[in-house]
Amino acid sequence: MIDSFGRTISYLRVSVTDRCNMKCLYCRVGDDRITVDNQQLLSFEELTRLIRIFTELGINKIRLTGGEPLLRKNLVDLIRTLNAIPGLHEVSLSTNALLLERFAGELYRSGLKRVNISLDSLQPDTFALVTRGGRLDGVLRGIQAAVAVGLQPVKINMVVMRGVNDHEIPAMIDFARNNGLVLRFIETMPIGEAGARMDTRHMPAAEIIQKVQACIGGLPLPSIEADVIGNGPANYFCHLETGTTIGIISAKSRNFCATCNRMRLTSRGELVFCLGNTGRIDLREPLRSAVDDDMVRQLIAEAVIQKPAGHTFLENHGPGASHAMSKLGG
Ligand code: SAM
Repeated sequence: MIDSFGRTISYLRVSVTDRCNMKCLYCRVGDDRITVDNQQLLSFEELTRLIRIFTELGINKIRLTGGEPLLRKNLVDLIRTLNAIPGLHEVSLSTNALLLERFAGELYRSGLKRVNISLDSLQPDTFALVTRGGRLDGVLRGIQAAVAVGLQPVKINMVVMRGVNDHEIPAMIDFARNNGLVLRFIETMPIGEAGARMDTRHMPAAEIIQKVQACIGGLPLPSIEADVIGNGPANYFCHLETGTTIGIISAKSRNFCATCNRMRLTSRGELVFCLGNTGRIDLREPLRSAVDDDMVRQLIAEAVIQKPAGHTFLENHGPGASHAMSKLGG
């Protein structure tokens, strides 16, 4: 699928639930307890059909996300089914790892190859502050389990927040080095009300890179083509001495929209064209009105044409904004 700006769309983020067992400061506000009517969620049958159609249209990689995807009952069964779809080269998962100790083995046996794990602090107090109650020890056990069962690569995503966890960049690099992990530092994005509030803590990529350089003694070169390692927007640097891979995802200070290859499917079946825009179409209603695959294909093809040139983060937040990461599939 090629959009109006000549970008090939080959990657789909698929949210399987809005629910989460953490309430990260930059993702959710107040006590916005998320209740979900299961009827509103795409069923596994609906998801499998849609992803098969997307694959026929050229999507070859998907990432399951949320909310916290491991909260979706029987997720392992879904992964096993998706792995059998011809043309779908990769199914991966983003998780906060709180339930990973329990599920890592089953996930690996279902055909999952790789996992991205959010980890913003190695200090229990800071971790609890950022996640508003999350338990660091459970997450660390989840990371160990992922490595032990053979998921590869295990990527750690740290959202860097000025004055909150930026002093932990050296410790995080050591942690990645000692555990054979790929590490990515992420700029806060002003998405949704929570993201907009955290804009005061934003640290631009250039400053994060300076801190990384200070840790590893000089320029973090050579830079590796992103596609060699992942599908995503990270600029990767290799720490020469140990081979530890470090990336920076800078959606705000160095917008990477020109090379965007993705769209997002919410747990309720909306196809979101861009993380930093409100444009979307509903696919659930057509699916449930028993339209044929050709019609679904046509809807998706029309949606791809509507994908905008780039994000407009600052226009999409505010009280009650539905455009929050937990509802979009971050
Ligand atoms: N629960 C899973 C997890 O923790 O990875 C998947 C969902 S979470 C919304 C996906 C990613 O979005 C996480 O790495 C999180 O740090 C990131 N994220 C959410 N809101 C963000 C924001 N405002 N700025 C930057 N990253 C954000």
